[in-house]
Amino acid sequence: MSVTWSLRPEPGPGTEAVVRPVWAGEPPADLPVELPFELPVELSAAFLAGTGFGGEVGEVLQLPGTPVTVLLGLGPRGRTGRDAVRAAAAGLARAVRAYRRLAVHPPGTDLRPLVEGYLLGGYRFTRYRSGATAPTDQHIEVITAGTPDAARGLFEGRRLGEAVLLARDLVNEPGEALTPPAFAEQAVEVAAAAGLECEVWDGRRIADERLGGLLGVSRGSLVPPRLVKLGYRPDGWSERDGWSERDGGTDGDGGTERTERIALVGKGVTFDAGGLSLKPNAHLAGMKADMAGAAAVLGAMSVLGALDCPVAVDAWLPLTENMPNADPIRVGDVLVMRNGTTVEICHADAEGRLIMADALVLAAETRPQAIIDIATLTDAAAIALGRRVAALMGTDDALLDRLRAAGTRAGEPLWPLPLPDAYRPQLRSRVADLVNYTLGTRHGTALLAGHFLREFVPPGIPWAHLDIQGTALADGTDAEWVTGATGFGVRTLVEFLTGGPHPST
Ligand code: MN
Ligand code: MN
Repeated sequence: MSVTWSLRPEPGPGTEAVVRPVWAGEPPADLPVELPFELPVELSAAFLAGTGFGGEVGEVLQLPGTPVTVLLGLGPRGRTGRDAVRAAAAGLARAVRAYRRLAVHPPGTDLRPLVEGYLLGGYRFTRYRSGATAPTDQHIEVITAGTPDAARGLFEGRRLGEAVLLARDLVNEPGEALTPPAFAEQAVEVAAAAGLECEVWDGRRIADERLGGLLGVSRGSLVPPRLVKLGYRPDGWSERDGWSERDGGTDGDGGTERTERIALVGKGVTFDAGGLSLKPNAHLAGMKADMAGAAAVLGAMSVLGALDCPVAVDAWLPLTENMPNADPIRVGDVLVMRNGTTVEICHADAEGRLIMADALVLAAETRPQAIIDIATLTDAAAIALGRRVAALMGTDDALLDRLRAAGTRAGEPLWPLPLPDAYRPQLRSRVADLVNYTLGTRHGTALLAGHFLREFVPPGIPWAHLDIQGTALADGTDAEWVTGATGFGVRTLVEFLTGGPHPST
């Protein structure tokens, strides 16, 4: 679906449907402008009660006429935060697919969640449906005075929505189509369009750089691995003493402002068969999504420039398959990671932490002010927190608090899990420095994976780890979540990095 947007003071000619917000238990709010047509009925509370329309979030009632009047439920007034607006807009998008021109009276002055929810809720992945008809191109007029805030909200919502959809498209692609080289090619294209620095390492360079984890995991695949490095630099950026500096900073005095340099790492296993520790078929389903962390990072990076992100950001995406073909790592093998740490392989299906470890070492070598990694890492995280809440671990409470707040604002809830010192001994190996998996226990395995990653981040660099195993895929359509890839993490990362355009909410 291609959607274009504009701001208008009143519905324009050719409008097929006019959307009006309705709060639960109330008649439709008075509109700020006179409608240029007669409504088919009087929209009284009694009339609405007779239709059964309750104004619940995302509920839609269409009243015939020219144009059609579409009532959009927003739930109880007073609880209409961004989450409700996103969810309502998502429901709207699914209900009005057939219209080419719509006029939408927004429920508030902040247009960003409206546009974001509409794009996310209306998303469909149809590339492989032979009978799919091309979706209707839509133009939406948002009925509002064209203030700079309105224009900015429209722009931000559109760009953020598109970034999430980029991640969803990547995750929904079959593993055969989105191999590590294919993912890297897409990253190069995205970087070029977004003005990012981009470097791609092939298998030989990965070996030269001693990325023993990434190289080891990729050995089981006939398709070569890649490592993608991305860099974003804000306007006027320079670096001194390992810190970013930015000319003419936001304080407006034209001087130099010190800003952060943040590193992101995203897990990119384009298909996880489990390696020699082959998964049963029920567990193979959805394993094309094991690169959702890398997709979320690429999606977030794609929009930093457009949203005028004030901090410098570097990203590392280790990309590989985990297959039992070619020359797979054996259980019992020992891999030497980039920082020299040796790892005994106790389970070939615990591969994500191996490739993440090398990428974390690379990220730490640049001495950023913080490292954030995101990965579909453990079933334990999904079992603990389900499909809507991602697990958050790390070493720095201030960083974790900031990330959690960003997730809440962005509509992606995160919940902290601990990294208890008492669990660290479970990573001891009889032959190497660490095991990649603790045999004989199913308990606390999300935390053990977190502990493993922590070993590769030097003390002194604040680090946070997002386990999105539960949230990367949705198993149903609800609010802005559509069955399949969710793009989870894009919005949190963007909100965190841009500081949020609306810090007051
Ligand atoms: Mn695995
Ligand atoms: Mn995996």
